[in-house]
Amino acid sequence: MSKADAEDFLEDMVNRKWLIYKDGYYYMGIRSITELMPYFKATYESNLNTCYLCKQILFHGKKCTNCETFFHLYCLKKFTMVCDPMKCPNCNTVISDVDLSGIQDDSTLAEEDTSKVKKSSRKVLRNKN
Ligand SMILES: [Zn+2]
Ligand SMILES: [Zn+2]
Repeated sequence: MSKADAEDFLEDMVNRKWLIYKDGYYYMGIRSITELMPYFKATYESNLNTCYLCKQILFHGKKCTNCETFFHLYCLKKFTMVCDPMKCPNCNTVISDVDLSGIQDDSTLAEEDTSKVKKSSRKVLRNKN
């Protein structure tokens, strides 16, 4: 399947309300995934990416830079709870440039900000006294 063919196919899926196109990414539509899966698998299996961790079809996720393995971000997030730093589960390459914002909380950043605020507020208190 060429890139243009793939785009035609995805556009057709959007027209049939099977996929939703938003912000440059395709999402599964309201129509059931189970209805689509056999069709996808039979026709496009070799052209579709599947998540290495949960084996489900993936439209938007993270690709390992070393071995071309794909993962859902949330699967990768779950995986890092047992494996830190974040590594490709297939080839053990450390994955550093993944954006888990919205999935991960930035507690480190928040702490830095708080300490800055504390220092300046101390100054203000001293001036008052
Ligand atoms: Zn997954
Ligand atoms: Zn890898």
